[in-house]
Amino acid sequence: MAARSLNDFPLTENFNLREFQCSCCGQVKIHPKLVEMLQVLREKVGRPVIITSGYRCPSRNKAVGGALQSYHMRGMAADIKVPGVSISRLAQLAESLGFNGIGLYPGFVHVDIRNGKARW
Ligand SMILES: [Zn+2]
Repeated sequence: MAARSLNDFPLTENFNLREFQCSCCGQVKIHPKLVEMLQVLREKVGRPVIITSGYRCPSRNKAVGGALQSYHMRGMAADIKVPGVSISRLAQLAESLGFNGIGLYPGFVHVDIRNGKARW
């Protein structure tokens, strides 16, 4: 069996823990419900879902200008994109699957599992 590295193991059929780790330090914290919902989205869209930002440690969050209480720091948010699928279509899909927080950006959609709805 090939040597595997830190955080390298599957969470679901299509997602590996590594995909969610902080890009600056490799720390990771991720809510199981977020991953479950992303897996459902993955199956609905039928194409690879790319996590552009999953967990962020506080210093990484600050560096990217994230919200002070960002759900990325709580393992409850992910920024995603799907090559070949528009941002608005991806946001519609997230909406239909019940993500509570949805934010559209040029190039990616932010989804999170906060309590209560937020749209931007
Ligand atoms: Zn970090």
